[in-house]
Amino acid sequence: MIKRILVTGGAGFLGSYLCERLLDDGHDVICLDNFFTSQKTNVTHLLNRPNFELIRHDVTLPIFLEVDQIYNMACPAAPGHYQYNPIKTIKTSVMGAINMLGVAKRCNARILQASTSEVYGDPEVHPQVESYRGSVNPIGPRACYDEGKRVAETLFMDYHRSNGVDIRIVRIFNTYGPRMHPYDGRVVSNFIRQALAGEDITIFGDGEQTRSFCYRDDLIDAHLAMMEVEDFVGPVNIGNPVEFTIRELAELVIEISGSKSKLVKRPLPEDDPTRRRPDISLAKEKLGWEPKIALADGLQSTIDWFKSINMSDYRAPTP
Ligand code: NAD
Ligand code: UDP
Repeated sequence: MIKRILVTGGAGFLGSYLCERLLDDGHDVICLDNFFTSQKTNVTHLLNRPNFELIRHDVTLPIFLEVDQIYNMACPAAPGHYQYNPIKTIKTSVMGAINMLGVAKRCNARILQASTSEVYGDPEVHPQVESYRGSVNPIGPRACYDEGKRVAETLFMDYHRSNGVDIRIVRIFNTYGPRMHPYDGRVVSNFIRQALAGEDITIFGDGEQTRSFCYRDDLIDAHLAMMEVEDFVGPVNIGNPVEFTIRELAELVIEISGSKSKLVKRPLPEDDPTRRRPDISLAKEKLGWEPKIALADGLQSTIDWFKSINMSDYRAPTP
């Protein structure tokens, strides 16, 4: 059945690809974005599609729309972006959740929250399972993002329990792919940009910290599955369970891009999590989902995309 679907943060890296997938499935898509960390070029190719609508709006402000489903993706995601204006970041998560839950409640719409592995902070439990309550520093530089997302999860659960709102919560682990912001300061975009320019590759700390990298298409498959599943609200971990050290990632990017860049060490940012890997047993059981794209293949597609863009079309790290 064709649905009218709102995607907040719909012009972003993940949101724009989600809009595309929903349009391809025949749905009416409303993309809402304030373009804080994205540019219109991410969605200009969709503007001539008759079932696509673009609204410039800030989720911290109320809006009245009639929709059947909402994907709440609006929030800066890269550390450099979310720390640029930390108060705005936490407002986006908290007030954005309240405003969008209000729309969902009024319209009787199903609403999915893009939460994050950051709710686990610097985890003492490895790999991370959904029942782990996390180890977040509430007063550190990452707290505006981590705590904002934690409060958003609380709001989602309370609207569900108290008001019967039909919610879904996904906890997204590090995701990469075409259309990620080349200057967002995240590790994949930094390493690819540096490798292609023949610049030094900046390893923060000793490079032994780990992350598990999920390709964009796999991640969006899981979002679509989560939105359609019945009798399961989550939270559910969505990510690729194959873990790499940051040094291994740098070496892989150099190898695939054929770069001559050298690795250089830079100070480790405060509160940088030491390791991160999702336990995806719940996603497998409830959604029948697991990622299909190996890091080397996903990096190849991402590198090809980076080669195809004009870097000067993108704004530098501080938006
Ligand atoms: P992104 O920065 O590319 O996309 C976020 C979008 O939200 C941007 O288009 C931005 O302009 C918009 N936005 C920000 N504040 C807004 C506001 N106040 N009102 C309206 N729009 C606003 O980041 P992304 O990687 O596509 O992330 C999308 C979602 O997924 C975010 O909620 C993020 O927290 C979550 N997430 C992403 C990752 C990842 O690795 N990419 C990991 C965990 C969680
Ligand atoms: N990192 C790095 N060099 C960079 C950018 C990031 O070594 O140029 C490290 C960072 O310290 C962290 C990991 O890569 O340990 C992932 O960082 P990112 O900002 O992509 O996301 P995070 O998972 O920390 O939110």
